[in-house]
Amino acid sequence: MRILVQKFGGTSLSTSEARDHVVSHIRRELENGFRLVVVVSAMGRKGDPYATDTLLELAAEGQGFLPPREQDLLMACGEMISAAKLCSLLAECGVASTVLTGAQAGFRTDSHFGNARILEIVPTRVLEELEQDKVVIVTGFQGQNLTGDFTTLGRGGSDTSATALGAALHAEIVDIYTDVNGILTADPRIVEDARPLEYVSYAEICNMAHQGAKVIHPRAVEIAMQSGIPVRVRSTFSEGEGTLVANPEGFKDVQLGIVDRYVTGIAYVANVTQIRVEAAGKGADNLQLQVFKAMAENAISVDFINVTPTGVVYTVFDKDALKAESVLNALELSPQFLSGCAKVSVIGGGINGVPGIMAKIVEALTEQNIQILQSADSNTTIWVLVHKDDMVQALRALHDKFELGR
Ligand code: ASP
Ligand code: MG
Repeated sequence: MRILVQKFGGTSLSTSEARDHVVSHIRRELENGFRLVVVVSAMGRKGDPYATDTLLELAAEGQGFLPPREQDLLMACGEMISAAKLCSLLAECGVASTVLTGAQAGFRTDSHFGNARILEIVPTRVLEELEQDKVVIVTGFQGQNLTGDFTTLGRGGSDTSATALGAALHAEIVDIYTDVNGILTADPRIVEDARPLEYVSYAEICNMAHQGAKVIHPRAVEIAMQSGIPVRVRSTFSEGEGTLVANPEGFKDVQLGIVDRYVTGIAYVANVTQIRVEAAGKGADNLQLQVFKAMAENAISVDFINVTPTGVVYTVFDKDALKAESVLNALELSPQFLSGCAKVSVIGGGINGVPGIMAKIVEALTEQNIQILQSADSNTTIWVLVHKDDMVQALRALHDKFELGR
């Protein structure tokens, strides 16, 4: 049995025109001989009648407080409405389908309401329905805890439902349908000649997703990566194949022109504050421990961490900077703050061990008189911190330097 998982996001289900596209993608893949599992999100975005945020607003009206367990019950409704609507549209054109809730599809989770972890998936019911030749529509974003309560997987969690189910069913591929044509080399609102990528590796897309290219949820990619299931990110509104996300070995089966590249894309996170704390005579080890423990205890997430023998430098989101300042002042440290920074990343599975990448980055930025405030690197990414006012120019310069444009 060749199983394909298709996931349709909120914008793909929000209008009747969009839903017609959804139905045609389903019919095409049935004709291609696949058994289909279709994971759906709630329709539309905040303000639209059945969107997750709209449901939450409904509960927030007035003085009432909705406990987390009941909040999950409420949020689960959005996906059920989408699923039922799709079932009726398929029936209209003679395609037999059945709807399964997260629980019925076998998603067992812990009881962390609002952000539950999948413990296991037992997709017996899904397989039975597929064998009956039905399209199985599964409500994304939800599961069931061991007591039988509805749980949800965290905002944006229907991507996770799709790749996890793909892994559990040993699907051939998971198609994530959205409103963009795949993964681009950079944010097209900033870099005009940003171009859709034919393929990216799991590691590359993980870096891009965490860096703000919000096309697919990072957790969904991590699950796909662990199980080696290829994912395609593609548009509901076109027939294009979008971007294939897989292990580099997976690309060998695909006819591609440019497998041998170093840099894949440029991403960014704006609005971060750099914090520098010097030991000034005190033991630096103790200082490191003090600083990071205090941040953790106050639930401030830290990033871009450089520890040196004389102190620490790291970043927090601008919104957490004031809190970080009062925490550090209470410890009688003398932190220095630089707000309004942006983290720019150069991502590429091929950069590891290749000389000259950092030189090119420095060259691109100094040509534009952009100061690098801090840098760090991993196997697939080099990050530089710049002033936010320089960010747009930096993204464009790097995109040009690595010849990523059309
Ligand atoms: N409907 C859920 C949300 O808005 C899940 C999803 O769309 O992925 O977070
Ligand atoms: Mg989403």
